[in-house]
Amino acid sequence: MFQSFLIKYAEIGIKGKNRYLFEDALVRQIKLALKKCEGSFVLSKTPGRIFLDAETDFDYDEVIEALTSVFGVWGVCPVVRLEMCEPEELAKAAVDYFKKVYPNTDKTFKVFTRRSNKGYPLDSMELNVCIGDAIIDAVPGIKVDVHNPDITLTVEVRDKIYLYSEIIPGPGGMPIGTNGKAMLLLSGGIDSPVAGWMIAKRGVKIEAVYFHAPPYTSERAKQKVIDLAKKVSKYTGPIYLHIVNFTDIQLYIYENTPHDELTIIMRRYMMRIAEAIAKESECQCLVTGESIGQVASQTTQSLVVTNEVCTLPVFRPLIAFDKEDIVAISKKIDTYETSILPFEDCCTIFVAKHPVTKPNLGIIKKHEECLKEKIDDMVNKAIDDKETIIVSED
Ligand code: ATP
Ligand code: MG
Repeated sequence: MFQSFLIKYAEIGIKGKNRYLFEDALVRQIKLALKKCEGSFVLSKTPGRIFLDAETDFDYDEVIEALTSVFGVWGVCPVVRLEMCEPEELAKAAVDYFKKVYPNTDKTFKVFTRRSNKGYPLDSMELNVCIGDAIIDAVPGIKVDVHNPDITLTVEVRDKIYLYSEIIPGPGGMPIGTNGKAMLLLSGGIDSPVAGWMIAKRGVKIEAVYFHAPPYTSERAKQKVIDLAKKVSKYTGPIYLHIVNFTDIQLYIYENTPHDELTIIMRRYMMRIAEAIAKESECQCLVTGESIGQVASQTTQSLVVTNEVCTLPVFRPLIAFDKEDIVAISKKIDTYETSILPFEDCCTIFVAKHPVTKPNLGIIKKHEECLKEKIDDMVNKAIDDKETIIVSED
């Protein structure tokens, strides 16, 4: 029954003179999301809102799914669109709308008219009364409440007439492309896809880097990370995924440093490599899925030691989240089922029984000295040999 959608956004409305940049980015992201949908659509911007008019048949669920995945969209109202018509015909259409959307309702309602087309024969107040009366007459049990109604039927009289009352929540946030670019350290776990999604929700474009260690980590573990990137790309658009072969570095660290420090030293090398690739790719920051206290390498002391190698800022959106809250988001964004597939990631394969939980930076640096003969060459080789793929939903 719907032919149009009103797309509401919240936060980008407060950006002053730069507002048009945000609106343009939002329109761009909506167009991108609609490419996946059947049908032909026209987008039009009006101050504070965007209208989407379908020009052909389309799949309602598919369009809602696409629109509610776009960061920056606060909510989507499905709209019944009418050609310009007389008040009597408009009132009849409003009654039909009501009967279809709220059959057997005992709710209260009001009509709210916006009339940007000033040539219309009735003004907003007159239209409110005309349409309200028609609904009261036609829908048994319905009552008016102008102060605190359960249902507000909005009628917009523009070049066409738009009727809507329902709002389907969108993800909120800001449109991708309005806040720079980040390099996400993406593993096969639950946390990092959620961390990437959260940063992207603030308008940040993301690329990703994955460290794999064949044959200790399998092709299926790598495929799992690609699948996760694909799930996240539903929200972010295509993701450049850099796959770094970490085996030689990991073995070299394993052979030359104390085993209880392996994880922390390895993590320092991951961060160094991720930062180098981030700079090559013109990212302004790194993103990880770390959260205080989750594992030995995420105690405050370990995080400080890992962080010490970075010059770019490292954003850790999950830093103060409990696992169950992270899991809830991963279920919502549909990465959870993929994340819990059982393939090893490269952190778990060499894990010491008792890794240090309070590493001392001085000691760690001293032990890294034992790597100096080959490690720089190995790091450069790992960066040079990385495989980059573009991951997108289809
Ligand atoms: P996740 O659920 O994201 O895998 P985790 O709880 O398993 O996190 P760690 O394995 O300690 O935690 O990793 C912490 C963070 O380091 C991850 O969230 C991710 O950002 C990054 N990371 C870990 N392993 C890899 C990897 N193989 N490739 C890329 N990044 C990684
Ligand atoms: Mg992990």
